[in-house]
Amino acid sequence: EAQNEFSRYAFYHYDMDEQLMDRLVLEHDLHKALDKGELYLYYQPQVNLREGRIVSLEALIRWKHPERGWVSPGEFIPIAEETGLIVPIGEWVLRTACKQLKHWHNQGFSDLSVAVNLSTRQFFQRNLVDLVEDSLKKANLPPRYLELEITESMTMNVSYATDILAELKRLGVRIAIDDFGTGYSSLYYLKDLPIDCVKIDRSFVRHVRTNKHDAALIAMIISIAKHLELTVIAEGVEQVDQLEFLWKEHCHQVQGYLFSPPASSERLSAEYEELQQQ
Ligand code: C2E
Ligand code: CA
Ligand code: CA
Ligand code: CA
Repeated sequence: EAQNEFSRYAFYHYDMDEQLMDRLVLEHDLHKALDKGELYLYYQPQVNLREGRIVSLEALIRWKHPERGWVSPGEFIPIAEETGLIVPIGEWVLRTACKQLKHWHNQGFSDLSVAVNLSTRQFFQRNLVDLVEDSLKKANLPPRYLELEITESMTMNVSYATDILAELKRLGVRIAIDDFGTGYSSLYYLKDLPIDCVKIDRSFVRHVRTNKHDAALIAMIISIAKHLELTVIAEGVEQVDQLEFLWKEHCHQVQGYLFSPPASSERLSAEYEELQQQ
């Protein structure tokens, strides 16, 4: 009877902590993922609307877990961030993206840029500027082809952000504010930060044809950003009527499933080869 009671208790607790267990296992596996070659970079095209061509590619990380299959970055990036694993992973992302772009330049696509997401912890890493400089140098990539995507929350410490962004700008790389509109910052002080680009979050793009407030907001962001001489990218463009709206509002660049999902470098290389043969 007592033992029964115990096992029921134990079971109850196991059940309760299943989520936690799951997370611990994932965290444990993530420690080895980089060395085991389970991480990949996919790339998603960013299209210049006026020129109608791909100008840039955003590098997006993928994890192919040996048992679970593909684990989404939405699931493991927060774990990597909390544990600090994002530091070596982020370094790998940066170096890999620079090398891959150089490879594409050598293939003949010499005006493509690459955009790399920086995590909060990376942004506050003391050697960030050195790491960026070294990654560019090792890849032999001119700095203007690298764009770093940061989020609004990273700029809350304005004096730190201003200093570090100025240092990165001195290297010659471009800076984009990602997920724009979802954070607490305002365009008001963004005007003082040395940035080049804002990326309108896909949560606004999604309802642009059905929600007039979202439409007004996007139109306003585009307009103000243009006055500040920033490039505007809309992400998550899936439908033609969303594209039409962005076209009419003179958004510079678009990114989304309508054009291409993120794809492996092998697949993009193959598609580029085909294009060249045409
Ligand atoms: P994000 O930077 O906002 O990236 C855009 C996300 O939207 C990507 O999800 C992309 O695959 C997805 N997406 C692109 N077009 C569409 C579309 O038309 N419709 C919809 N519904 N989604 C679209 P993904 O690849 O799952 O990445 C999720 C987040 O994980 C990223 O959001 C970024 O915050 C983070 N992440 C991804 N790769 C890295 C990385 O290398 N380093 C860091 N620090 N974070 C990364
Ligand atoms: Ca991004
Ligand atoms: Ca986003
Ligand atoms: Ca993001």
